[in-house]
Amino acid sequence: MNHIMFCQNCKSYMIMEQCSCGSKTVIPKPARYGPEDPYASYRRTAKEAQLKSRGWL
Ligand SMILES: [Zn+2]
Repeated sequence: MNHIMFCQNCKSYMIMEQCSCGSKTVIPKPARYGPEDPYASYRRTAKEAQLKSRGWL
């Protein structure tokens, strides 16, 4: 089974270990947090604590 490889130079996916542009392709890492930043859930928690302190929750 071929791995899906990713050329960071061309920003494109392919199955070759070397892109036609000459760059070595890499295995793309799965996006753990997606486009959201990793502190989004932390901010939500902080916001909730703020609301609670004001008696809004
Ligand atoms: Zn390329």
